[in-house]
Parts: sequence; C-alpha cells; structure tokens
Amino acid sequence: MSLSAQYDPKNIFAKILGGDIPSARVYEDDRVLGFMDAFPQSRGHTLVIPKVQACNLFDIAPDDLQNLMVQTQTIARAVRDALAPDGIRIAQFNGEPAGQTVFHIHFHIIPVWEDENERPHAAGKMADINELKDIAAQIKAKL
Ligand code: AMP
Repeated sequence: MSLSAQYDPKNIFAKILGGDIPSARVYEDDRVLGFMDAFPQSRGHTLVIPKVQACNLFDIAPDDLQNLMVQTQTIARAVRDALAPDGIRIAQFNGEPAGQTVFHIHFHIIPVWEDENERPHAAGKMADINELKDIAAQIKAKL
C-alpha cells in the first residue's frame, strides 16, 4: 500500500476499535487504545493506536500524533515497570516496503531481553488470547 493510500475503515485495527474482533486491552480513553500484539515479537509486545482514522505518520493531525506519542510513553513506562526488560524498542512503519502490514497508524512497544531472541515481525503463530490478557493485566496494574 502506498504512502498516499486511502484509509480503509475495514482494516483489522478499525475492527478492534469497533469491538468486532477480540483484543487484550491495556489502556483505553476517548483518543487512544493500547492492546497486546497478537503475533508478539517478544513477551509484552504492545501496540498503541489513535481512534482517529489515519493510515500513517503523514495523514494524522499533529495534535493527535502528539497525544499518541505521549500515551505511547505512558504505556511504555508501564511495560517497563511490569516486565523489567533490558531494553524497549519503539517502532512505527510507514508503507508496505517499510514493513507496515496494518494501515492504521500505530506505535509498537517491544520489550527486549539480552538473552532472548526476538521473533519475526507480524509473523508466526497467533498468541493465545488468555496469555495476552494475563500480560495485559500485569501492564495495566502499572498504569
Ligand atoms: P505493522 O506491520 O507495523 O503494520 O504492525 C502491525 C502489527 O499488528 C503486527 O505486529 C501484527 O503482529 C499485529 N497484528 C495483526 N493482527 C492483529 C490482531 N488481530 N490483534 C493484534 N495485533 C495484530
């Protein structure tokens, strides 16, 4: 999908926002949703999305982007406090060639442990929803 693509209101994150498909939610307010990645690259891999419709960094309003970034910081702090990883990567991809697979802007919060290999991006087996809810509860408790 190109950088100037039209927003598809049926994308998977729009369905998560609408409650049409399940998610393990960490945080929600009137502007953002934080939830567990269903194909986690590591334990605690969390996504933060805005409720406004925007495909990528280039078509979100600055004020919504600022809020999204600040909420990503808040949720990343809770991931850090809940799971005590050695590092945390924040990632955000724009366009398919850059690695974007869902075209509703989001920030990844990916905990990193020195002695653990990370799983590949957006691939592999879907995680068990109950395990994700368990980790989500640990993160939520630190918010
Ligand atoms: P990106 O490739 O940056 O667009 O990231 C999309 C992310 O969404 C990937 O890390 C996927 O593992 C994740 N993902 C795909 N489907 C779901 C889903 N149903 N629930 C939660 N995360 C998902």
